Amino acid sequence: MNVVILLGAPGSGKGTLASELAKVPGIRHLSSGDLLRGAVKEGSPAGLKAKAYMEAGNLVPDELIAEMIEEVIAADEGTNVLLLDGFPRTVRQADILADLLARKGVHLRGALLLEVADAVLVARIAGRRVCPDCGATFNVATLPPKVEGVCDVCGGALTIRKDDDPATVRHRLDVYAEQTFPLIDYYRARGLLHTVDATGHDLEPKIEAALRKIHD
Ligand code: AMP
Repeated sequence: MNVVILLGAPGSGKGTLASELAKVPGIRHLSSGDLLRGAVKEGSPAGLKAKAYMEAGNLVPDELIAEMIEEVIAADEGTNVLLLDGFPRTVRQADILADLLARKGVHLRGALLLEVADAVLVARIAGRRVCPDCGATFNVATLPPKVEGVCDVCGGALTIRKDDDPATVRHRLDVYAEQTFPLIDYYRARGLLHTVDATGHDLEPKIEAALRKIHD
């Protein structure tokens, strides 16, 4: 297995890009946010611990999410490229991931940074709608569902994420700037950083650019 990290602010389109890339056989999308939301929904011990942090737009403790990611990687079979979306989010998590991959003999292929102007991020998050049943994501402005309010994939009723309200979004962008932004230099210094311009709405060129970088 090879690992590719997707880096980018909330709303940069990591999840949308990753779910498109995961249509390619052998590529798997692992979203730390989806993993945590699943745990909260289930009411598992990890979910109970994570809930309050997530609702406030804060990061959950590094060890909590790192253990969940490790379990998924340990159980994985047959994935060629694992796309990590939302993990690591801090330098500490990046160090934990490096150790974990070294122990498992998994190769870190690179980190793809989706670059988007701040004003675009806020507008994108405002339009985001998610399916609580299957996790599919839509956007009323840029990626609307075929029927308003209904998930194209499973027919579930689309909702707005609790942490997508404007005040929490501003806080999440601050958290990104303080805690996750340093990862850009972290991976650049290790010769692993690749950048994709993710400002436009058209997904096709981004998918192609990302695939080229993954396969380089
Ligand atoms: P996301 O769906 O990636 O925007 O994540 C939603 C929320 O889950 C974040 O605001 C954090 O509260 C939490 N979360 C997701 N990934 C991580 C991570 N790697 N480290 C800490 N918290 C995380």
